Amino acid sequence: MLEVRGLGIRFGGLHAVQNVSTALTPGHITAIIGPNGAGKSTFFNLISGFYQPTSGSIHFLGEDITRLRTHEVVGRGIARTFQTTTIYKELSVLDNAMIGHRVRTRAGVLDALLRTGRERRDEAASRAEALRALKRVGLSDRAHLPAGALTQEGQKRVGIAMALASDPKLLLLDEPAAGMNPEETVNLMGLIRELVGGGLTVALVEHKMSLVMGLADEIVVLHHGQKIAQGAPADISRDPAVVEAYLGS
Ligand code: ADP
Ligand code: MG
Repeated sequence: MLEVRGLGIRFGGLHAVQNVSTALTPGHITAIIGPNGAGKSTFFNLISGFYQPTSGSIHFLGEDITRLRTHEVVGRGIARTFQTTTIYKELSVLDNAMIGHRVRTRAGVLDALLRTGRERRDEAASRAEALRALKRVGLSDRAHLPAGALTQEGQKRVGIAMALASDPKLLLLDEPAAGMNPEETVNLMGLIRELVGGGLTVALVEHKMSLVMGLADEIVVLHHGQKIAQGAPADISRDPAVVEAYLGS
C-alpha cells in the first residue's frame, strides 16, 4: 500500500532519517517504535509531505508521492494526527472535524476559519463528512460542545476525527496514547481496532509498549534514523538489536 525506498532526510549534519525502506500492508496496524529522537515523527513528516526527503522515494497505491505537498498527500488518502494536540479548543467539536474535511478539498485552513463565500458553498458537504467522522470516533453526542471542554481522551478523539474527515485510506497516528491513563489507552485501542475493522490501514508511533504489543500486526524499529528491525511483535521483543537500542538509550 505504502512503499518507502531508501528514504532519508538531513538537517545540517544530522541524518534524522537515513536509508529507510519498508512497506505497509493494507488492513494492518504497523507500529513505528524506537528511542527518543530515533526519527519516528520525522518519518511521518516525510510521508505526509511536511518535510521533503533528501533521498529516496515514497509510493502510495502505486503512485509516486515523494514530492507532493501536504494537502496533495491528504487528497491521495493519507491523513495524520500530531504528537501534540492541534485541535481548536474554543471551536466546537463539529467545527474541528469540518476543518479536517476542508484540508482535503483545498490547501487553506484559513478559508475554513474565515468562512469565505467559496467556503460556505461547500459547507453542507463538509458537515456531512465531519458528522460521519465524529460518529466513527464516538463523539456524535458531543458535536456542539467546545472541543476544549472534552477530556484529554475526548480531545484526542477530536484530533482523530479531524484526520478521518478527509476519508483517508491510511491513517498515521503520532503517539495517540500520550497523556492517557490505562483505561483511556484501552478505549483508544478499541477505537483503532474498530477503524481497522472498517477497512482503514493504520501506522502509529507509540511509546506505550502495552498498546504496541496488544495492537500491532507488525513493528518497524528505528534507531538513530535507521531501521534496525521489522517483524511481528513477538519476534521484535526478542530481537537483540532492539533490546540493545532501548537499553543503550
Ligand atoms: P522521534 O519522534 O523518534 O522522537 P524525531 O523524528 O522528532 O524523533 O527527531 C529525530 C531527530 O531529528 C532529532 O534529533 C530531532 O532533533 C531532529 N529533527 C527533527 N525535526 C527537525 C528539524 N525540523 N530541524 C532540525 N532537526 C530536526
Ligand atoms: Mg516523535
